[in-house]
Amino acid sequence: MKKKTTKNNYIIRTKKRILRDTADCQKKYITNFKDIRKYFKIFNKSLFKNELNPFNDVKIKRIVRGSGQCVEYISYRKGTNFFVLEMMPKYKNKMEFLNTLSHEMVHLWQQTIKKDTGNHNKLFFSFRNKFKRLNLKLSY
Ligand SMILES: [Zn+2]
Repeated sequence: MKKKTTKNNYIIRTKKRILRDTADCQKKYITNFKDIRKYFKIFNKSLFKNELNPFNDVKIKRIVRGSGQCVEYISYRKGTNFFVLEMMPKYKNKMEFLNTLSHEMVHLWQQTIKKDTGNHNKLFFSFRNKFKRLNLKLSY
Protein backbone atom coordinates (compact mmCIF):
# COMPACT_ATOMS: atom_id res chain seq x y z
CA MET A 1 0.00 0.00 0.00
CA LYS A 2 2.68 2.44 0.98
CA LYS A 3 4.56 1.84 -2.22
CA LYS A 4 1.49 2.70 -4.30
CA THR A 5 0.98 5.99 -2.46
CA THR A 6 4.58 6.98 -3.05
CA LYS A 7 4.20 6.16 -6.71
CA ASN A 8 0.99 8.18 -7.02
CA ASN A 9 2.64 11.11 -5.32
CA TYR A 10 5.43 10.97 -7.86
CA ILE A 11 2.91 10.98 -10.72
CA ILE A 12 1.08 13.96 -9.22
CA ARG A 13 4.34 15.85 -8.67
CA THR A 14 5.44 15.09 -12.21
CA LYS A 15 2.12 16.25 -13.63
CA LYS A 16 2.42 19.53 -11.73
CA ARG A 17 5.93 19.97 -12.99
CA ILE A 18 4.79 19.42 -16.58
CA LEU A 19 1.91 21.87 -16.14
CA ARG A 20 4.28 24.48 -14.73
CA ASP A 21 6.83 23.86 -17.46
CA THR A 22 4.29 24.16 -20.28
CA ALA A 23 2.18 27.02 -18.94
CA ASP A 24 3.24 29.43 -21.68
CA CYS A 25 1.84 27.77 -24.80
CA GLN A 26 2.57 30.82 -26.94
CA LYS A 27 6.28 30.51 -26.42
CA LYS A 28 8.29 28.71 -29.07
CA TYR A 29 10.48 25.97 -27.74
CA ILE A 30 14.12 25.57 -28.80
CA THR A 31 15.26 21.97 -28.49
CA ASN A 32 18.34 21.19 -26.44
CA PHE A 33 20.09 18.04 -25.25
CA LYS A 34 19.83 19.01 -21.61
CA ASP A 35 16.02 19.01 -21.66
CA ILE A 36 15.96 15.78 -23.66
CA ARG A 37 18.13 14.10 -21.03
CA LYS A 38 16.15 15.58 -18.16
CA TYR A 39 12.76 14.58 -19.48
CA PHE A 40 13.98 11.19 -20.64
CA LYS A 41 14.71 10.44 -16.97
CA ILE A 42 11.39 11.85 -15.78
CA PHE A 43 9.35 9.92 -18.35
CA ASN A 44 11.35 6.75 -17.86
CA LYS A 45 10.42 6.79 -14.20
CA SER A 46 6.82 7.99 -14.51
CA LEU A 47 5.79 6.03 -17.62
CA PHE A 48 8.17 3.10 -18.09
CA LYS A 49 9.11 1.94 -14.57
CA ASN A 50 12.71 2.89 -15.39
CA GLU A 51 12.88 -0.06 -17.78
CA LEU A 52 14.20 1.90 -20.75
CA ASN A 53 17.83 2.12 -21.70
CA PRO A 54 18.72 5.52 -23.15
CA PHE A 55 18.72 5.98 -26.90
CA ASN A 56 22.12 5.04 -28.32
CA ASP A 57 22.28 8.44 -29.94
CA VAL A 58 20.25 11.64 -30.07
CA LYS A 59 20.14 14.00 -33.03
CA ILE A 60 18.54 17.41 -33.31
CA LYS A 61 17.75 17.93 -36.97
CA ARG A 62 15.08 18.92 -39.42
CA ILE A 63 12.51 16.19 -39.95
CA VAL A 64 10.33 16.16 -43.03
CA ARG A 65 7.58 13.86 -41.83
CA GLY A 66 6.26 14.05 -38.30
CA SER A 67 7.76 15.91 -35.37
CA GLY A 68 10.21 13.29 -34.12
CA GLN A 69 11.57 9.85 -34.93
CA CYS A 70 12.87 6.74 -33.24
CA VAL A 71 15.12 5.18 -35.88
CA GLU A 72 16.50 1.66 -35.64
CA TYR A 73 19.84 0.97 -37.32
CA ILE A 74 20.71 -2.66 -37.93
CA SER A 75 24.15 -4.00 -38.74
CA TYR A 76 23.63 -7.40 -40.30
CA ARG A 77 27.36 -7.86 -40.49
CA LYS A 78 27.87 -7.34 -36.77
CA GLY A 79 24.44 -8.64 -35.77
CA THR A 80 23.74 -5.56 -33.68
CA ASN A 81 21.11 -2.87 -33.67
CA PHE A 82 20.87 0.55 -32.12
CA PHE A 83 18.28 3.26 -31.71
CA VAL A 84 18.61 6.91 -32.54
CA LEU A 85 16.21 9.59 -31.37
CA GLU A 86 15.70 12.42 -33.83
CA MET A 87 14.10 15.63 -32.62
CA MET A 88 13.41 18.86 -34.48
CA PRO A 89 15.43 22.02 -33.68
CA LYS A 90 12.29 23.80 -32.49
CA TYR A 91 8.69 23.18 -31.57
CA LYS A 92 5.55 25.28 -31.47
CA ASN A 93 5.76 25.18 -27.67
CA LYS A 94 7.20 23.05 -24.88
CA MET A 95 4.11 20.87 -24.69
CA GLU A 96 4.65 19.76 -28.26
CA PHE A 97 8.27 18.94 -27.44
CA LEU A 98 7.27 16.85 -24.43
CA ASN A 99 4.50 15.05 -26.32
CA THR A 100 6.96 14.22 -29.09
CA LEU A 101 9.71 12.97 -26.80
CA SER A 102 7.36 10.77 -24.78
CA HIS A 103 5.80 9.46 -28.01
CA GLU A 104 9.20 8.39 -29.36
CA MET A 105 10.01 6.77 -26.01
CA VAL A 106 6.96 4.52 -26.41
CA HIS A 107 8.41 3.37 -29.73
CA LEU A 108 11.73 2.66 -28.01
CA TRP A 109 9.91 0.70 -25.32
CA GLN A 110 7.96 -1.31 -27.93
CA GLN A 111 11.08 -2.22 -29.88
CA THR A 112 13.59 -2.85 -27.09
CA ILE A 113 11.48 -4.16 -24.20
CA LYS A 114 8.62 -5.83 -26.07
CA LYS A 115 10.47 -6.69 -29.30
CA ASP A 116 7.45 -5.27 -31.08
CA THR A 117 7.20 -3.75 -34.56
CA GLY A 118 7.03 -0.27 -33.12
CA ASN A 119 3.93 0.59 -35.10
CA HIS A 120 1.05 2.69 -33.81
CA ASN A 121 -0.74 -0.43 -32.65
CA LYS A 122 -2.66 -1.58 -29.61
CA LEU A 123 0.53 -1.92 -27.58
CA PHE A 124 1.48 1.64 -28.45
CA PHE A 125 -1.89 3.06 -27.42
CA SER A 126 -1.94 1.03 -24.22
CA PHE A 127 -0.04 4.03 -22.83
CA ARG A 128 -2.89 6.44 -23.44
CA ASN A 129 -4.15 6.55 -19.84
CA LYS A 130 -0.68 6.79 -18.35
CA PHE A 131 -0.06 9.75 -20.63
CA LYS A 132 -3.33 11.38 -19.66
CA ARG A 133 -2.41 11.20 -15.98
CA LEU A 134 0.64 13.35 -16.74
CA ASN A 135 -1.33 15.74 -18.92
CA LEU A 136 0.44 14.40 -22.00
CA LYS A 137 -1.27 13.45 -25.22
CA LEU A 138 -0.50 10.26 -27.10
CA SER A 139 -1.42 10.55 -30.77
CA TYR A 140 -0.18 9.44 -34.18
ZN1 LIG B 1 5.02 7.32 -33.80
